[in-house]
Amino acid sequence: MEGKNRKKTKGKSSVTKLIIFLVKNIYEPKRISRLNILEKELIINKEYSVITNGTRKSAISPFIHYAVGRKNGYVPDVVEVLNEYRYGYTALISDGIIYQLAEPEQIVSHASGFNRSHLGIAFAYYGPVAKKVKGWIEKDGLWYPPYNDCDIEIAAQYLKMLYEKGFLESLEPIYHEDVNPKKRDVGPAFNRRWFECLLK
Ligand SMILES: [Zn+2]
Repeated sequence: MEGKNRKKTKGKSSVTKLIIFLVKNIYEPKRISRLNILEKELIINKEYSVITNGTRKSAISPFIHYAVGRKNGYVPDVVEVLNEYRYGYTALISDGIIYQLAEPEQIVSHASGFNRSHLGIAFAYYGPVAKKVKGWIEKDGLWYPPYNDCDIEIAAQYLKMLYEKGFLESLEPIYHEDVNPKKRDVGPAFNRRWFECLLK
């Protein structure tokens, strides 16, 4: 390993060699991961509920959404809209908390044609908005808020838990915008690669 490093830095200036040394030996970014947390540490909030429509033994895979409310995108706001239109998700994720709205075996109307076969979860956020917001992601003239790292992590952990309990047959996600290209759902701010990596 050492010989390999020496070979790679051969012919480079001493400043470059120093930078390479620092990067390899000192700067070791370590992400604090919430993966492998115990089930009892998952924060599942059951304060809200949505309209359900029967039960099923297990779902084929998770179906991922981006849910927005009418006023602010906070969970009570989003749930109000869901109940009004008689659709919903098994869980909403917001600020590092899973708001489980229905039991995992219950069927909810989250995407036409996929309700019975797939388990829908959604990230609850505000937006998108038509005005530029610093730090948000622009796509086709609309700005989308970035997803919180902890929301992505806890969602992956939650789905893994459901998989281990037999409520999901696979952890390969479907995103709403992939079956309905008119929608920006999960939208351009969602890091699919990272989420799917966490689900492995
Ligand atoms: Zn959706």
